[in-house]
Amino acid sequence: PAPGEVLLQVEGAERRFGGLIAVNKVSFEVRAGEILGLIGPNGAGKSTMFNLLTGALACNSGKIVFAGRSIERLSQAKIARAGIARTFQHVKLRPRMTLLDNVLLGTYTRTKAGLISGALRLERQEEASARAEAMRQLERIGLGDHPFELAGNLPLGNQRLLEIARALAADPLLLVLDEPAAGLRRNEKQKLAELLANLRREHVTILLVEHDMEFVMNLVDRIVVMDFGTKLCEGDPAAIRNDARVQEAYLGS
Ligand code: ADP
Ligand code: MG
Repeated sequence: PAPGEVLLQVEGAERRFGGLIAVNKVSFEVRAGEILGLIGPNGAGKSTMFNLLTGALACNSGKIVFAGRSIERLSQAKIARAGIARTFQHVKLRPRMTLLDNVLLGTYTRTKAGLISGALRLERQEEASARAEAMRQLERIGLGDHPFELAGNLPLGNQRLLEIARALAADPLLLVLDEPAAGLRRNEKQKLAELLANLRREHVTILLVEHDMEFVMNLVDRIVVMDFGTKLCEGDPAAIRNDARVQEAYLGS
């Protein structure tokens, strides 16, 4: 899709857990080239929404259209191949593999044969270009100087950056991040914010799910606010910051 066109459309998405409605008829869209922040207090339904988008959970009702195609019935693997890349709230790197190999795993996401067989089947030429691409991603996150360091040796902040590099290596149409700043130290948060600001300048399309309103304020083009499973409001960061309903929702948490 061209910049500004709707890339992801969520329409009336609903997800229940027993009697609890975690996501209650939520609708919003992500446009190509923007960073959309999805925020809300704890328990608002953000992670459930994230899981619906990435196929980790099924909707009870509603529609999710991505790049012109209904994805609400697709498996996680198919959604990844369709072009939605994600990171995990709890880092899921391979600690005993090098930084470079961790990023290389990301480049295989979209090969049909899947992870391991896909890796083995890469021809030499493809292997070389995949490695070059993985190096480029490492440089993008500022870790290009130590490609053969083991991922498990990195501090948490750099592991988060590495996860983003791995997701970007799949060349996704949309990157979705669930609380990437959670648990990071102040200087690590700063580095993450710089990376996201760079990606924004490059018009990488991102859905940033985040509890911390201040963290998203300067990074995103638009914000959708959830509270108690429903969409409370949406707008540009300045409007959201001054919205009494948003302040009230955050005060209660
Ligand atoms: P957020 O990410 O905004 O903090 P969640 O989507 O994790 O919110 O949770 C929304 C609500 O759904 C919460 O009340 C939570 O307890 C509930 N919930 C989330 N996942 C499950 C689950 N797997 N089983 C039962 N309840 C769940
Ligand atoms: Mg969450």
